[in-house]
Amino acid sequence: MSGRVCVVGAGPNGLAAAIVLAQAGMKVEVLEAQSRPGGAAHTLELTLPGFRHDFGSAIYPMAAGSPFFSSLPLRDHGLEWIHSPSALAHPLDDGTAVMLDRDLSATATSLGVDGPAWDKLMRPFVDRWAEFAPEILRPVSFIPKHPWLMARFGMVGLRSAQAVARRFRDPRTRALFAGLAAHSFLSLDEPLSAAFAILMAVPAHAVGWPIPRGGAQSISDALVSLLTSLGGTVRTSTPVEHLAALENYQLFLCDLTPQQLIKVGGERLSESYKARLGKFRYGAAAFKVDYALNAPIPWKASECSRAATVHLGGSFEEIAASEKSVRNGQHAERPFVLLAQPSLFDSSRAPAGKHTAWAYCHVPNGSKVNMLEKLENQIERFAPGFRASVLARHVFSPANLESMDANLVGGDIGGGVMDMRQFLFRPTWRHYATSARDIYICSASTPPGGGVHGMCGYHAAKMALSMLG
Ligand SMILES: Cc1cc2nc3c(=O)[nH]c(=O)nc-3n(C[C@H](O)[C@H](O)[C@H](O)COP(=O)(O)OP(=O)(O)OC[C@H]3O[C@@H](n4cnc5c(N)ncnc54)[C@H](O)[C@@H]3O)c2cc1C
Repeated sequence: MSGRVCVVGAGPNGLAAAIVLAQAGMKVEVLEAQSRPGGAAHTLELTLPGFRHDFGSAIYPMAAGSPFFSSLPLRDHGLEWIHSPSALAHPLDDGTAVMLDRDLSATATSLGVDGPAWDKLMRPFVDRWAEFAPEILRPVSFIPKHPWLMARFGMVGLRSAQAVARRFRDPRTRALFAGLAAHSFLSLDEPLSAAFAILMAVPAHAVGWPIPRGGAQSISDALVSLLTSLGGTVRTSTPVEHLAALENYQLFLCDLTPQQLIKVGGERLSESYKARLGKFRYGAAAFKVDYALNAPIPWKASECSRAATVHLGGSFEEIAASEKSVRNGQHAERPFVLLAQPSLFDSSRAPAGKHTAWAYCHVPNGSKVNMLEKLENQIERFAPGFRASVLARHVFSPANLESMDANLVGGDIGGGVMDMRQFLFRPTWRHYATSARDIYICSASTPPGGGVHGMCGYHAAKMALSMLG
C-alpha cells in the first residue's frame, strides 16, 4: 500500500494523530475545513484591532500535563507556557476569593479547617502525576498499570461532587470544589461529577493551569510546525465531504464527532456500526463572550487579579442549581461563568494598557437564548463597574460556535456528554476503531474526551499503526 494517511480535521487531536503517524514514517496529509488549523484552539482578532481572543480553549492544564505533548519538542516550535501566580480564583459575595494555587501545601493552608481533607484527597494523585496522567488520559482499563492508584481514584471519582464535597466543612472549600466539578457539564449530584473536580484540581497542583504566550494559536502553530518538520502537510479550506471520494490513502484518521463521521464515511461503514454511532449523545453547550476592555477587570476581591482563570457562581448550592437546570434543558437565572483574563499575564493579547477577557456559561444544546445580560450580571456581581470598562464584545451563540468548527455540535464544546456510559464506551465499545479497517475516529468523542491534550489522536494513531502490524 501507499503509506499515505489522510487526517480529516486539524484540531489538536487531528494534529496529534498526524504527528504520531509522521513519526512512524508515514506520509501524512491533514485536510481542514476552516481557513486555519487548530479547531477549537485558535486565536482571532474578534473585537477590535490588536485584541487577540481565543475562539475556543484558553487555559491548558491538560495540554501542559499531556504525556504525548510533553514528549514533543513544542518549545522548539514556539510554544511557551505562562503561569499566573495562582491557577484559579473563586470570588464570593463577601468580597474575598478562594484561591487554587500551584503549591498544594499553600492551597491546603489557605483552606484552613479543610486543608487536611483537601491535601488527603489530592496528594496521592499530585505526587504520582507522571503515573496518573497516562492512566486517566486513555480508555478505561480494567487492568490498569497502577491498580491501587486507580482504585483510589475510582472510589472518589465515580461518586457525585455533592457526595465528595461533604468531607469539606467550610462553604468556601465546597464552592471551590463545585466550580471545578462544573467543568463536567454534569449535574453535581450525578456520578462521575467528582472525577472532574479532582481532574481539574490535581493538574493545577502538579503542572499548573498555564496559558500559551500569544494565545491558543501558539499551540496549534507549534503542532503544525512540528508536523511539517516531519514531512506532513496541512491543507486548509478543504472540507471533506465523502471519504469514498478520496483515493490512494492507506488510512483515514477522522478528527470528527460521530454525526459527522456518519456523514462523510457513511458509505464505508456498516449499518450496525452507524446505528451505534447514531445513539451517541451530545452534551450541553457554551454561550460565549469575548471582551476588549479599557482596563483590568475591577474585582472586589483584589486577589482575583493573580489568576488567569476565575470561576463566577458563588456557593456550592448556587453552582449546583445552575448546572442542574442546564442538565434538565433549562437556562440558569444565575449561570455559573468561567472567565479567563489572559492579557494580565501576556501583553501580546491586547494593545498597551488594554485587556481582553473570555467568558462562557453553560446552556442547553442548541440553545437560542441570549444569555449576555445574565452572564454579565455574574461578572458585575463580583466586579462592580465591569460593564463600564467594555470597549467591544463578541458573542458566540451555540450555533455561532458550530459555524466556526463543525465538531462543536449544537455548541457542545466537549465532543459529547461525559456520563458513565460515554465514559466507558466513547463513542462505541470499539473506541477509535470503526467497522472499516482503514477508518479511525480520533476526536474528543473518543477517550479520554474533551480538552486540549491530543491524547485521543495519540491513542487512535497508535491503534491504527498496531493494526497495520
Ligand atoms: C468555547 C470553548 C472553550 C474551551 N475551553 C477549553 C479550555 O480552556 N481548555 C481545554 O483544554 N479545552 C477547552 N475546550 C475544549 C477543547 O478546545 C476541545 O475539546 C478540543 O479542541 C478538541 O479537539 P479535537 O481535535 O477533538 O476537535 P476540534 O478542536 O473541534 O477540531 C476539529 C477540527 O476538524 C475540522 N473539521 C470538522 N469537520 C471537517 C470536515 N468535514 N472536513 C475537514 N475538517 C473538518 C474542524 O474545522 C476543526 O478544525 C474549549 C472549547 C470551546 C469551544
